[in-house]
Amino acid sequence: MQQLDFIGPARDLAEDLSFSYVARWKEETGGRAIGHFPVYVPQEVIHAAELLPVGVMGGWGLLEVDYADSRVQSFVCSITRSTLELGLTGKLDLLDGMIFTDICDVARNLSGVWARNFPQMQVEYLHLPQNVTSEASAVYLKRELERLKGRLERLSGVEVDEDSLQESIGLYNQQRELLERVYKIRRETPWLLPAHDAYLLVRAAAHMPVEDHIGFLRRAVEEVEGRSAKARDNIRVLLMGPFCEQPPLELLKIVEEAGCYVVDDELLPGYRWYTSSVPTDGNALESLTQSYLERARLSSVRFPKKRRREAILDWLKEAGASGVLFCSAKFCEPALYDYVLYKEALEAADVPYMHLEFEEKMSTFESVRMQVETFVESILFA
Ligand code: SF4
Repeated sequence: MQQLDFIGPARDLAEDLSFSYVARWKEETGGRAIGHFPVYVPQEVIHAAELLPVGVMGGWGLLEVDYADSRVQSFVCSITRSTLELGLTGKLDLLDGMIFTDICDVARNLSGVWARNFPQMQVEYLHLPQNVTSEASAVYLKRELERLKGRLERLSGVEVDEDSLQESIGLYNQQRELLERVYKIRRETPWLLPAHDAYLLVRAAAHMPVEDHIGFLRRAVEEVEGRSAKARDNIRVLLMGPFCEQPPLELLKIVEEAGCYVVDDELLPGYRWYTSSVPTDGNALESLTQSYLERARLSSVRFPKKRRREAILDWLKEAGASGVLFCSAKFCEPALYDYVLYKEALEAADVPYMHLEFEEKMSTFESVRMQVETFVESILFA
């Protein structure tokens, strides 16, 4: 199948550890950029403050970790060490700040290490509510968003009003709708857009202003929708686990080559956090709060409304998947703890699953290929 036009540029962006797109944006606009560690940040609030949110996702296997080992333990996940290495080697000097959220204890500690090592940056830590069913959570989260808004205003020197917040929400809704089209293609015609190409499309959001990403996605989706390709006899799976540290692109390729169609996944969840558009007809921060509490996807770093056991079975049904591939980053506790709960639910419902561990610097994939092929055969010939 011929390579899609957007793949080359999207891969260049993903591999650009110097963030040249961001540097160009800063030069052209005179604006400021704030990095954020993966999973969720309220990008709408950052955008409304006229700051550029930049997704910082570690070294993706393209960076040797030398200096970071003097600041964090060697037994933490790769993304933590390589993100710190990016900072210590000056690759993030173009950022004016960094935001971390309470996804896990390692990310929490990294925010402290960051503040100590990069005093020139404004470091923010967003405390998200753990109990989403308590009435107090909405009050608390709205206050936390207000606090962040104030801190971002201080960084940019721009006062954020209700109109600018609504406008930003509207833009991110457009991005969400296009990303939903990408995932609709994955669910309905996965042979038109391989999982690793879809991933690169989403990942481009980490480097680009949302306005550029919307145009990029629109062109890419039109290109994919106009293409034809033959369906393969692959089995449909959900890919769970890589919500924070990013798996090597080669691993995603091998999963499909070995006979799976990844019809939905937990990759880069921050860009698809809400299950529907954020309303633009009420108070903006209240709408973001309600969307976070009521309409967020299942994630290991957020306490769910529905029990995890039920939620994974519902997701499986919605995606029309017949199995689950757990792909956890080495030393990622949230992913490994949830795996235990999910696997019990899948075993009780007689759903096939398999578990793989990955790390950024992984370079041989043959054993992964063999494991996935065996998994596929066990389903096909059951
Ligand atoms: S990969 Fe897992 S353990 Fe590491 S920072 Fe992310 S959520 Fe935390």
